[in-house]
Amino acid sequence: MAEEIKKSVGYSDTPIIPGSCWHVHDGNRPQPRVVTPGTASCQEKAGLPPSDAIVLFDGSSLGNWLSNDNQSAPWKLENGYMEVVPGTGNIHTRTEFGDCQLHLEFASPEVVRGEGQGRGNSGVFFMRKFEIQVLDCYENPTYPDGTTGGIYGQFPPLANACRKPGQWNSYDFVFIAPRFAGYQLLTPAYITVFLNGVLLHHMRSIQGPTLHRAITNYDVPMNSVGALELQDHGDLVRFRNIWYRPLYGYDQA
Ligand code: MG
Repeated sequence: MAEEIKKSVGYSDTPIIPGSCWHVHDGNRPQPRVVTPGTASCQEKAGLPPSDAIVLFDGSSLGNWLSNDNQSAPWKLENGYMEVVPGTGNIHTRTEFGDCQLHLEFASPEVVRGEGQGRGNSGVFFMRKFEIQVLDCYENPTYPDGTTGGIYGQFPPLANACRKPGQWNSYDFVFIAPRFAGYQLLTPAYITVFLNGVLLHHMRSIQGPTLHRAITNYDVPMNSVGALELQDHGDLVRFRNIWYRPLYGYDQA
């Protein structure tokens, strides 16, 4: 019988990469996990998430979401999206998570009403604390740190990539939760944001939980996980296709 020959895919006679226990081109280093990619969304239809995504909303149920008082989410569900029901309050996920890649899509109301912060206002709150603004900023000036994609009250986005009212916009985030040791902040939250494929923030350090008309900080310690929250700001904003991928091992070499 022919002896099985193990095919070498790398090297073991090369230097060790500083900060790791692996040789340069080490063939024994663990292979990246296989993930089947999803499909892109279009205006008519939401796409499909990658194979290892945890789906928070696929258009069929609000079962993964809760009201402010932890009852069933009171927003409207129709035609594969959810829509804010003004006055019912924010909703948040049953699940808590920290470091993640998150995808969601939103559409501003097709019938334009109001201006500035009063037009198509909602928001995506990581850990129910850090708001990335959702607003109809298509030909609608407002204060820059309140623009769509702004880290509200802290940093304007690098670009205004909003589609027209009524059209679906695609948001992609990489969120890194803050770390504390007791009351001591070790590292702040970090975020990377793409809107419709356009980079808005790259590893931006968030200054603290979102506040209105005030500066913020990390004086109050927090866990490194929390629910995802969507804002009821009184406007008929729609959401669809919400999923995340936990970044297990993000800070491991
Ligand atoms: Mg908002």
